[in-house]
Amino acid sequence: MITVTDALARLFELAPVLEIEEVPLLEASGRVLAQDVFSTRDQPPFPASAMDGYAVQNAAPGDRFTVIGESAAGHRFDGSVHAGEAVRIFTGAPVPQGANRVVIQEDVIRDGESITVQEGLDPKPYIRPAGNDFQTGSSLTAPRVLTPGDIALLASMNIARVPVRRRPIVALMSTGDELVMPGETPGPDQIIASNTFGLHALLSGIGAEPRMLPIARDNAASLKTVFGLIDDADLVITIGGASVGDHDLVAPVAAELGMQQSFHKVAMRPGKPLMSGRLGEAMMIGLPGNPVSAMVCGHVFVAPVIRAMLGLGAEPQPRLTAPLTKPLGENGPREHYMRAVCTDAGIHAADRQDSVLLSVLGASNALLVRPVRDPARDVGERVEYIPL
Ligand code: AMP
Ligand code: MG
Repeated sequence: MITVTDALARLFELAPVLEIEEVPLLEASGRVLAQDVFSTRDQPPFPASAMDGYAVQNAAPGDRFTVIGESAAGHRFDGSVHAGEAVRIFTGAPVPQGANRVVIQEDVIRDGESITVQEGLDPKPYIRPAGNDFQTGSSLTAPRVLTPGDIALLASMNIARVPVRRRPIVALMSTGDELVMPGETPGPDQIIASNTFGLHALLSGIGAEPRMLPIARDNAASLKTVFGLIDDADLVITIGGASVGDHDLVAPVAAELGMQQSFHKVAMRPGKPLMSGRLGEAMMIGLPGNPVSAMVCGHVFVAPVIRAMLGLGAEPQPRLTAPLTKPLGENGPREHYMRAVCTDAGIHAADRQDSVLLSVLGASNALLVRPVRDPARDVGERVEYIPL
């Protein structure tokens, strides 16, 4: 049995950083930028007006100017502005040569082709210099998960295709004679496969491409058939059948198929029978079958592995701290990930911690982490948690 930290270190050894692919900008949101990208232009590319008004050379209350033309967005005024001249200008339009400020339209009175500047003139120049936002050679640095704001910035930089990490393809396999798919009619001894669906959702949300394999039954032939469908997956996740019961065939069958095991048991609650290794080209993780165990291991192990494959670094799930609002007893020899509720007041562990209770997981928004042999804790003491 190894520690959670050691297990994560071994998982990272098995997890390759995936290749770079180029995608159209419209498909880049949420993807991981894989290389620094550089602007090939200045924004704005010319000094631009920040307001609707008149471009002039200096101005003071009482000054009169003759309007000699117009500069609109997309249609510049071609000439120069000299003393005593003004060009009608609109937001985003190029400021003509010779002008050093824009007098906003509220600050002038217009009479035919002339304007007079009023008292209380707003002193700001209202000109955005060329390259005010970013300049040729400005970069967006990798790695980063691209946000909608980043997409707008890349568009503005005229970057139409974006180098991103390929999404890890993850094959998800439930195992068990008792399982049927949601929507089917279960027999009297059957339950619905839930783990693969929860993990599918978790994986989709963090940039992986999950694929649902058929449910493998608890016999070697069925397991081999389904293992035969993993195709080009980067990661194969099996669920259940990983303990040492008579029907727990995942480890022996995987070994028969050539899986090189890295570890099999981890000192944690829930989730002890966790296994990992290399199976052909793919990495394999065998998760425990109990639904909460599978989901907790998804957060604690699978999510960091996906981030590592996406080039976001080999780091455990980020943790926060909060004060306890209910006391906790002493912890045993395994790290404990307790389903918990965190509010502005602090955090408390759910009363029922059985690893089969999806209703409790659903009502939780945090995994409160108890270190190995952590002593009893009082209300007000700060504890670490992983937000869900
Ligand atoms: P196992 O490790 O196969 O013995 O599974 C442990 C427990 O988890 C058993 O009660 C299984 O019925 C249950 N279980 C295993 N796989 C799943 C699954 N995909 N969805 C829901 N429950 C499961
Ligand atoms: Mg089973």
